[in-house]
Amino acid sequence: MPADGFLIRQVELYVMQTIDLINLRKFSRDTGQPTHPELLDTTPMEHVNEIEITEEHITITYNERINRSYNANEIVHREWAYKYNDDPEFVRAIGKVIDLARKHLKDLPENVACPPGCAECCSGYEPFVSRADVARIAEHLGMPYDEVLKEYVVPRTSADSFYVGYLRKVDDDIASRCVFLKGSRSGKYYCGIYPARPGDCKDFTPIGCEDVDTSLPRNVRHEIGSPFVPKHRKRAHNGKRHSRR
Ligand code: SF4
Ligand code: SF4
Repeated sequence: MPADGFLIRQVELYVMQTIDLINLRKFSRDTGQPTHPELLDTTPMEHVNEIEITEEHITITYNERINRSYNANEIVHREWAYKYNDDPEFVRAIGKVIDLARKHLKDLPENVACPPGCAECCSGYEPFVSRADVARIAEHLGMPYDEVLKEYVVPRTSADSFYVGYLRKVDDDIASRCVFLKGSRSGKYYCGIYPARPGDCKDFTPIGCEDVDTSLPRNVRHEIGSPFVPKHRKRAHNGKRHSRR
């Protein structure tokens, strides 16, 4: 390609990227919704072929490869479905994508992160917990494993026995808030066991989330209150205070 042809191509590319970014930002501004994958600048996601989001799953196909053989070519790719699958290779791949996305942060819309204090998903979903999740929560709360299981987990073993159940709600209504959610209202919510929260909660992404509270400001300092304290400890604590009087 002649040098001026190369230059024109570069300018074309630059203009295309700029238009894409303007569309992307306009989409975010107009809707207040997390950016639709089709509108994302996918340049950083070199190894991702397709992202499909439904109500229950996020399915990402990645690492496409062409196996060339004598008379036919086979296209293969890896696939990962969020929420019911835990694939270390995918987790590493997505980690790289996130690193790249961070480097491109100036190109990305602000709403790749949840607005501070939003916790609609802590009511709308039931995070499944593995044995490791329960053990981590038990250590965090200073409680025996079996007690955490009894108090805070609804038993529901998954077919592969990886999950032992899901976190309880504050009452029997499945749409009620998670037993560990603290704060009085949207914008003030926070997870009461954040450092020990289940893997399901850690994996939750605002991208494609339709429950986001769009009224919340994003550039604010989020003050959180005291962590979750188990009921029996509260009772013990109250007892101590009474005995001092
Ligand atoms: S454990 Fe924390 S992050 Fe997970 S649903 Fe409950 S409050 Fe939300
Ligand atoms: S934006 Fe979505 S994923 Fe993030 S806290 Fe709100 S409801 Fe949950």
